[in-house]
Formats: sequence, structure tokens, C-alpha cells
Amino acid sequence: MGMRESASWLAPGRVNLIGEHTDYNDGFVLPLAIEFGCRATVSPGPAGRLRFVSAQENDAVELRVPALQPERVTGWAAYPAGVLWALGLEDLPGLTVTVDSDVPLGAGLSSSAALTCSVAGAANDLLELGLSPRELVTVARKAENGFVGAPTGGMDQLASMLGEAGSVLFCDMRSLDVRPVPFDLDAEGLALLVVDSKAPHQHADGEYAARRRSCERAAHVLGVPALRDVTDLDGALAKLAQDSEGEELVKRARHIVTENARVTDVVALLDAGRVREIGPALTASHASMRDDFEITVPEVDVLVEALLSAGAYGARMTGGGFGGCVIALVDKDTVDAATRAAVAAAASRGFAEPRAFVTSPAAGAHALDGPDAG
Ligand code: ADP
Ligand code: MG
Repeated sequence: MGMRESASWLAPGRVNLIGEHTDYNDGFVLPLAIEFGCRATVSPGPAGRLRFVSAQENDAVELRVPALQPERVTGWAAYPAGVLWALGLEDLPGLTVTVDSDVPLGAGLSSSAALTCSVAGAANDLLELGLSPRELVTVARKAENGFVGAPTGGMDQLASMLGEAGSVLFCDMRSLDVRPVPFDLDAEGLALLVVDSKAPHQHADGEYAARRRSCERAAHVLGVPALRDVTDLDGALAKLAQDSEGEELVKRARHIVTENARVTDVVALLDAGRVREIGPALTASHASMRDDFEITVPEVDVLVEALLSAGAYGARMTGGGFGGCVIALVDKDTVDAATRAAVAAAASRGFAEPRAFVTSPAAGAHALDGPDAG
């Protein structure tokens, strides 16, 4: 095989505009790819050896091809190693994988999908596997679910791989159908402000697993394949209330069912060009995550309140929860005031100083032309 000297891809992080924890309930999500991303280069290496290098990590990680098995690779290298494993090749050649990312790690902007999608794309090109973008989504997701052991619901990899500049990506997480929905903030004089709370992601993994279990149990009690299938919310909640875990199941299910409705409402508004009017749905999503799904923390609640007080049309935590980032839809000329309000609110509570930036929908993962490309 006439292997190239190297292949490089850039894959973005993502922000989810709305639709939180709905992905593993076969529901709807509405993410956008952002300007921050991970660059991955894959090149041939010594036979039988895999080497992983990250500009964000001090030490390179090396292993032999037979050690490419779940649970035998730990730490950050499990992500790129998981991608090579998920390709499912009989005889993998020796490879070197080098990555460099400007997506903040663990901030809820999906540095992990940026990493796995960029490596998947670069490996696909170098090894001339001919996988489609959708197949690369599957590979990247399998790496996180089956190798790293992170039970993510699939939104992140779809957004990173298939996101489009200028649009949010309306994803049906049951069929995996996606439709870009124009989200032209500039034309409306609007900005999407992202504020990283810097709150430590404590308990996130255990709580995420607990939410998944509750949702599965609620669907089971209701006799539906997934909470996506609930059509009569009041009837469903009355039935769940009878369960021994009723109080909790009612809240969890109410979040998922109402959140799916909010996603489709937002899509309808964007389709109609009524961008400003999505604000209340964003804010309602936050209240639902705070009160019913119970995945917010004071650090993000405070930011949402401050941004709304500063005149945001809507604000909500984005991402899996227990820290991470808040987004706010604001008039462009109020970005600075909103940012100051968020920073001041965090300071007044003694929280870490948040970091704010403005984003807009960027292109999804793509090959980079390097000296050896083509
Ligand atoms: P998020 O995807 O929201 O950033 P995750 O916990 O899912 O948070 O993924 C973060 C992890 O992904 C990091 O702890 C690290 O193991 C890995 N990671 C992401 N990007 C890089 C990178 N550029 N170099 C090394 N590890 C990375
Ligand atoms: Mg992640």
C-alpha cells in the first residue's frame, strides 16, 4: 500500500444551543460546531508500535498494537487509541498520532469529540479506508463509549463531524438524521456569548450514569422504547408518580419531554427567521435542568441570572452539567456589559473567574492540506 507520509484533520468542539440529555433518550438536539478545534496528524511509525503525542500533555504514550484493547489504555491516550481500535482493522500498521487542540479540556465544549473526530478523519485518509463522515461519527463515538468507557449519547461526535458554518445542526438522535438550520447571528445584530464557569466537574460521571438509569427506568415503567416516545405528558407523569422512585422519575421525565419540545420550538422559530424569540426557550431549558434534571451547580446558575439581568434574550447551561459553560443570546453591542456582569457575579460569590468568548457556527471536521496531502 502506497501510504502517504501523513494525513491531518481539524475537528471542532461544539456548543449545544438546546436539547440537553435528550440524545440518549432518542430525542432531539441542536448543536453548533465552534471555532475552537483539535488538529490531528497521523503518520506511519515503527512496525507494531503506536505512539500518541499531545501538545497539551507532557509525556508521549507508547504501546504495542496487541495492547490496543479497552481497559488496557488509560488516561488521555485512550481517546486516540480508542479511535484506532474502533476502526476494527485486522492488522494495524505502526502509527504516530500527534494532536494539538485549543478547545478547553473538560469545559463542556467537547474537546473529546474534537480529539476523536480529528484522529478518525486523519487515520481514515492515511490508511485510505474510504469511510464516510457518518461512518467516522460512528468510529469516534465507539472510541468514547467502547474504549474510553465514557457513556456519551452521540451528539458531540455528530456536531463535530457534520456541523456547518452559519447553521445549527438539528439532529434526530433516533434516526441520526441531521438538518442544518440557518443561525445567522450577525444579520440580526446578535451574538452567542459562551461563558466558561471553570467550575470543577465533580461527580459528573456518576451523576450522568444515574440520569441515564432514571430515564431508562422511566421509559420502562411507561412501556415506551425511550422517553422520546411520550406523547401524553400529564398521563405519563401520573403513571410515573406511582413508582417507588416516583418523585425522581417524574422530574427526570418532565425535563426530557419538555426539552424535546423546546428543541422543536426553537427550530420552528429559526426556520421562521425569528431568532430573538428563541430566548425564553433557552432560559426555560436552564430552569428545567436546574429544578427537574438537577444537573446545574451554583457557579452556572449565578452566571445565567447575571446574563439575564444584563439583558440577554435567553441563557442556559450547555453540555452535560455539573459545571462547564453557559451560553447567552445577546445583542451584539451588549457583549461587553454582559461579560462584565457575569465576571462580577462570579466574583461576588467567591467563584473562579469565568472566561467568556463569542462564538458562531463554524465548519465541521475536515482534512487539512499539509505538505504531504494528496
Ligand atoms: P469535554 O469533552 O467536555 O472537553 P471530556 O471529559 O469528555 O470533556 O473530555 C476531556 C478529556 O479528553 C481530557 O481529560 C483528555 O483526557 C481528553 N483530551 C481532549 N483533548 C485533548 C488533547 N488535546 N490532548 C490530550 N487529551 C485531550
Ligand atoms: Mg466530551
